[in-house]
Amino acid sequence: MPLATLRDALRCPVCKGALEHSDERLRCPRCEAGYPIVDGIPDLIPGCVDEQIKAMTAAWDAPGLDYDASIAQTAPERLRAIDAPLLAQCGGGKLVLEIGCGTARLKQPVEQAGSQYVGLDPSLTLLRQGAERGARGLIRGVGEYLPFPDASFDVVIGGYCSFRYIQLDRLYPECARVLKPGGVLAFTLWNNWAFFLYSIAQSVRQRRFYAPRFKAGHCNDVVWATREVRRLARFGFTVESILSTRRLPFAKSLPFVRRLVDGGGYWRGAPGALIGYDIIFVCRR
Ligand SMILES: [Zn+2]
Repeated sequence: MPLATLRDALRCPVCKGALEHSDERLRCPRCEAGYPIVDGIPDLIPGCVDEQIKAMTAAWDAPGLDYDASIAQTAPERLRAIDAPLLAQCGGGKLVLEIGCGTARLKQPVEQAGSQYVGLDPSLTLLRQGAERGARGLIRGVGEYLPFPDASFDVVIGGYCSFRYIQLDRLYPECARVLKPGGVLAFTLWNNWAFFLYSIAQSVRQRRFYAPRFKAGHCNDVVWATREVRRLARFGFTVESILSTRRLPFAKSLPFVRRLVDGGGYWRGAPGALIGYDIIFVCRR
């Protein structure tokens, strides 16, 4: 699927049928759904999505959202540590889909590694910013309804926090569907325990003794990595590696902990996912 024909290869996100297209619109003859093309970006979010997807889409398209600022606030070494295992899968003539691509920050490194990049995001605002910086191959859509044919990508990646609010039980089977056999899914989730400890440390530091919540109900922060491995297996994925970043922001004032963390690298496997900050799963279909 070379990028020149990406638009021809797009599928109806609901019934997966081929789309008819004009300059301004895509149309599914099978289920008669229409999809606009806005500023050159096909908008393939189905009209039938549930309230959760609607809320997530609205949040990522909120006028005040400054994505670049939030990325800039993230320590560069943390971003490098999250990106590296994903980009390591993207070399050498592959077709790579990034789900939750934002402004297509990873497009350049994927292309520099010799692969083709397709970016999907629910936020038209962020996709427009990416397109203004020259990115092509950007599609508006959601991970629960991927608008691509079966077995079309070599690699699917989800960087930083892009899988945090997606419904994973609907995302994983879609990733399995669009990946070629033997294809790789590589993504990051955050460690619930790290956030829990961080919120306790914050409450102590600020002398505001509220009870921290163990887990936010609406997000996918990992409590047990082994549970995520089993869920991925249900959808046909074998987890090849689990890497967790060595970052403990709540323990900065403890020199012996800082020495442990400053060594760089990753903690490995499910035990490492209990103490790491960002947890990177690399899985094969
Ligand atoms: Zn359709």
